[in-house]
Amino acid sequence: MQEPAPMNVTPLESFPPPERWDDWVEYDAKAWPKKVERRYALVPTTCFNCEAGCGLMAYVDKEDLSIRKLEGNPYHPGSRGKNCAKGPATLNQIHDPQRILFPMKRSGPRGSGKFQPCTWQEVIEVFAAKIRTALLEDRKTEVMYHVGRPGHDGYMDRVLQSWGVDGHNSHTNVCSAAARLGYAVTTGADRPSPDHEHAKFMLLLSSHLETGHYFNPHAQRIIDGKMKGAKLAVVDVRLSNTASVGDYWLAPFPGTEAFLLLSFAHVLLAENLADAKFLETWTNWREYLARKRPGAPPQFAAFLAALKEDYAAYTPEAAEAECGVPRHTIVQVAREIGAAKSAFASHVWRNAASGNEGGWAVARCLAFVSTLVGAINAKGGTNCNTSDKFVAAPFLKPPPQQVWNELLYPKEWPLSHHELSYLLPHFLLEGRGKLAAYFTRVYNPVWTNPDGMLWEKVLKDESLVELHAALTPTWSETAQYADYVLPMGHGPERHDLMSQETHAAKWISFRQPVVRAYLERQGQRVDTTRETNPGDVWEEDEFWIELSWAIDPDGSLGVRKYYESPYRKNEKVTVHEYYRWIFENSVPGLPAAAQKVGLTPLDYMRRFGAFEVERGTWNAHDKPIALDGCDVATATGEVRKDGKLVGILHEGKAVAGFATPSRRLEIVSPTLADWGWPELATPAYVKSHVHRSTLDAGAGEFALVPTFRLPTLIHTRSANAKWLVELSNTNPVWIHRQDAERLGIATGDLVRVSTRIGHFVNKAWVTEGIRPGVIACSHHLGRWRLYDEIGTDRWASALVERQDLPDGRVRFTRKENIGPFASKDPDSQRIWWTDGGVHQNATFPVQPDPVSGMHCWHQRVKLEKGRPGDRYGDIEVDTTKSMAIYREWLAKARPGPGPGGLRRPLHLARAVRPADTAYKA
Ligand code: SF4
Repeated sequence: MQEPAPMNVTPLESFPPPERWDDWVEYDAKAWPKKVERRYALVPTTCFNCEAGCGLMAYVDKEDLSIRKLEGNPYHPGSRGKNCAKGPATLNQIHDPQRILFPMKRSGPRGSGKFQPCTWQEVIEVFAAKIRTALLEDRKTEVMYHVGRPGHDGYMDRVLQSWGVDGHNSHTNVCSAAARLGYAVTTGADRPSPDHEHAKFMLLLSSHLETGHYFNPHAQRIIDGKMKGAKLAVVDVRLSNTASVGDYWLAPFPGTEAFLLLSFAHVLLAENLADAKFLETWTNWREYLARKRPGAPPQFAAFLAALKEDYAAYTPEAAEAECGVPRHTIVQVAREIGAAKSAFASHVWRNAASGNEGGWAVARCLAFVSTLVGAINAKGGTNCNTSDKFVAAPFLKPPPQQVWNELLYPKEWPLSHHELSYLLPHFLLEGRGKLAAYFTRVYNPVWTNPDGMLWEKVLKDESLVELHAALTPTWSETAQYADYVLPMGHGPERHDLMSQETHAAKWISFRQPVVRAYLERQGQRVDTTRETNPGDVWEEDEFWIELSWAIDPDGSLGVRKYYESPYRKNEKVTVHEYYRWIFENSVPGLPAAAQKVGLTPLDYMRRFGAFEVERGTWNAHDKPIALDGCDVATATGEVRKDGKLVGILHEGKAVAGFATPSRRLEIVSPTLADWGWPELATPAYVKSHVHRSTLDAGAGEFALVPTFRLPTLIHTRSANAKWLVELSNTNPVWIHRQDAERLGIATGDLVRVSTRIGHFVNKAWVTEGIRPGVIACSHHLGRWRLYDEIGTDRWASALVERQDLPDGRVRFTRKENIGPFASKDPDSQRIWWTDGGVHQNATFPVQPDPVSGMHCWHQRVKLEKGRPGDRYGDIEVDTTKSMAIYREWLAKARPGPGPGGLRRPLHLARAVRPADTAYKA
């Protein structure tokens, strides 16, 4: 076999060549100094430990079929052979002595910790009957799939739509929904895709080099950009590792980031550094004038003058006063942005966008700055994600569902970018509905979400959640409340397709069960992935096929046909056929590339694991469109088909434009104006709920920033990876030296952090690396378990006692620190760490942003030295207060329906979009 067609990858200095991937020999490191040979087959797959979808290469021992190590896949266009610590640590997860190896069924009351093994057949029968009855009785909002880490592109959308339910729920509103809304109302695409590699200036509102979005692929390219001379500015309240290598570190008061960005805009406009030609062609400036200056002549010069006037108040001086960033730094950074012109790459994802009320406006203001210098979709600028993500279509797509689920998209937030997922318990407790069948998939809301004790409450209530399956490779604080715990494979034990917007290119990556792939490479027949996984661990693709078939065995519900093979009439599709069809029919260039090396498209992906579909994906908005059947209005430059705007005229040719209603970048958003938020229709600053004017510093009040990640941990999935837990096992409270001195706190002292609904007790870390007046505590840590037999892995969890107090309060106290335990892995006796961190999220009330619906993570807290009797890890939460605060925030929302009696604008993206008719309220 030849090498695959060259891809845009930097060759690694040393990696086994593909022609030796069937038989690669290395000496066994553990046998040293003896030279003991081990023979490996190298099989690619895709990492599942964050959203980046990096390539992994599994070394499968040919003698005992064990996976011995995982390295990067050099043929993966996103990660180019490199991984972060979490990629290779997949090995720990596979060999974790505490992993769940068999499907489990509850054998005591929910939450009692009593489970017994059961069969997959029983699971399929129980859930198929439950779902079939719900479908027959037209209860299509009572079946819900709630996903934490998706890791697949489109598979579950197809499954849910084949059932006809409106049941997709996600974690996005505790993650990225705010930034998505800010980008979507400006560019029509809900994610940015910065081209760091070709940038001249980069502005990050995130700690990308250590933990940010698309961590490893972006980190590589930020460094590539810097090596070519680009400069980097980092906006972060902490001196992150990224900020430490930036040319600028800007640490504004939390929640003032939008003001800071608007001051950059002010300088760009005042110093004529904006790209007037780009603005005139690609923005909806006519609409801006019509809405903001009715009666003004519809001339571009009038727009530019209006823009200058409207942002005149955001001077560097005003920004210094509001944000606490020196005015000369603001001017300097703004001038750097202006000098970079279209080669200005920028990104905000979680960070300020996910912390603050009005966080979505941070993304909108950042997109505005990029627009001003013509950097949207430009080389070295920031692409829309739609240019760089490739989702391949499967065979036979089901039609959109006809129903609308108010538990997912309630009327109060018509513009929420994703489901109001973290409010599900509040909605259920308010009597807005119930769930007949609930699947949580790699999702741990009891621990991850704010107000986790309310999640406990509803998950224990069989009248609200009738049947719950936790699909997870490992125990968690949530899985213990499920009726069935279903062990699904890790990254090298399952199939999925992934594509992410890591740079200016489109690629897809194949996740596959590597032992199965190796055996099939040898010509061995394998019918299901369960046969080659440890114990009776399955994979979801095959599980959903079996379940869907069982829901509709005779095809009378119209479900079964989506699971019939496209290659064998009336027979059940196999997972190979599912992907074979996609690779043969939906991935441009793949069949030809495969043919070139003598492989089928499926075998190409199984052999190399990834494929680059397109590179150099800039300027998608300027791509010509066919004019057949279109009407062209030369005065406005609008191109319409059947009355619908489909493009605009640019230099005499019809082009696609952007995916906004106007096909232009929307500096004024008619969507915001017409759907209840006219005062925020143009890029604006929204004062945060933790604005310093709301804090009484003298009384020990601070803004708590709880959103930052540790680079070596995987949200709530690190507890089964011993190497990662050994690297990071505490999450102390960051306090600036000045504040610590004022309060008499030293590093290691116990501190009590009180939120509006409770408190947690943690240790202090005194540092100069944080803005005074702000404290911070990383998420990931503070895992707990109620029992020794089941519950979160003991590498990272402390045994706790949970008490329900009579007045609605819940108290957790630690019974045992983390310590050595007996298992088949001798390392479990070598555990030296004890703390494990403190669970802070449970003490946070829900704070849904009134526009985006995103949970506003930052907290107004009181910090004090630990009180007598306080012990490390103590948590107390008042669930009565938490419901009251939910209602307080609910009252800020502006409910629909909106124009046309719709629940939501038809043009705004929605997860698993229903039929247009379902949008009618
Ligand atoms: S960045 Fe994410 S996908 Fe890439 S190796 Fe690390 S955890 Fe895996």
